[in-house]
Amino acid sequence: MDALLRLEDVRKSFGTITAVDGISLSVARGEVLGFLGPNGAGKSTTMKMASGFLRPDGGRVEICGIDVWARPVEAKRRLGYLPEGAPLYDEMTVRGFLKFCGAVRGLFGPGLKRAMEEAAERTHLAPVWGQSIGTLSKGFRRRVGLAQAIMHKPDVLILDEPTDGLDPNQKQVVRSLIRDMAKDSAIIVSTHILEEVPAVCDRVVIIAQGRVVAEGAAEEIAARVPKGEEPSLEAAFRHLTTTGVPGDKGGRAAA
Ligand code: ADP
Ligand code: MG
Repeated sequence: MDALLRLEDVRKSFGTITAVDGISLSVARGEVLGFLGPNGAGKSTTMKMASGFLRPDGGRVEICGIDVWARPVEAKRRLGYLPEGAPLYDEMTVRGFLKFCGAVRGLFGPGLKRAMEEAAERTHLAPVWGQSIGTLSKGFRRRVGLAQAIMHKPDVLILDEPTDGLDPNQKQVVRSLIRDMAKDSAIIVSTHILEEVPAVCDRVVIIAQGRVVAEGAAEEIAARVPKGEEPSLEAAFRHLTTTGVPGDKGGRAAA
């Protein structure tokens, strides 16, 4: 199947810190890719570049075959992005915010109304529809962020830690929403909550120190544990992200 999201050797440094050190990946329609890695591994930086919000130092990003930096308007039309922590406009009501986001996306009239209602229904926002965003609980704020990401039915969905800080019930709502959205889109979702990976993700990419250290189905990766240890995604994650410098192919630092 054709990739809707493609990253090719994407790189980013901040001063002397190499945050992303040549990451390549692709996600096809109907697929949920789990993007895993310890804190500071470069997940958010990669996702900011994948969504066209941060310019890479090198490499390419394509959404539906469109270069995000060469043709940003066309590329972003096909993209929904939930940033880390989901910054929102506190003084706006939920209704007002979604109306604003839909308008920015070029929706208007009955189409806008329908998109707002559908997004609200899928993210269970009815109870807070008229409330200002600043007064919402964390779970509701996150769902408002999700609603704006999905309301224009994007081909590609980039979700940065969508379940972080949510209670178990709220996590379940978000997980089933992701599975539901995956029918028509390509989704990349970052998380460090490994328990939710098998239920949500079709495939997994693990990064450490800005590089891919493993890629495959969750059960394949779970087998990559030190000799004698029980296969588990958690043990494999620990093993893959702490032992040695990732990518012994050479290149990083002086090596
Ligand atoms: P993750 O999302 O996997 O936790 P990040 O992509 O947020 O990781 O961060 C990767 C690395 O880049 C970290 O070392 C972080 O401190 C650094 N970093 C991220 N953004 C900036 C920035 N704007 N300025 C300086 N360093 C940054
Ligand atoms: Mg992050």
